[in-house]
Amino acid sequence: MAIHYYCRHCHQKIGSIPSTIDSRQLGIDQLNEQEKQEMIEYDTKGHVHIRTICEDCEQTLKQYPTYHEQESFIH
Ligand SMILES: [Zn+2]
Repeated sequence: MAIHYYCRHCHQKIGSIPSTIDSRQLGIDQLNEQEKQEMIEYDTKGHVHIRTICEDCEQTLKQYPTYHEQESFIH
């Protein structure tokens, strides 16, 4: 079991960590229920997939803030 991070915009894999780390240390507990549903997915093997944002997309969003309103802008 592991926690995989990938970019919600370009779907690039950002990294993964062993899930021995407590979810509280990841800040997951600070998310509300809706955010959890949007950001966190559990697959059938029990792995956790977290949608976040990669550095490339973060830079793009800083340059073009209006893209922020779009869920996915790179295809
Ligand atoms: Zn990205």
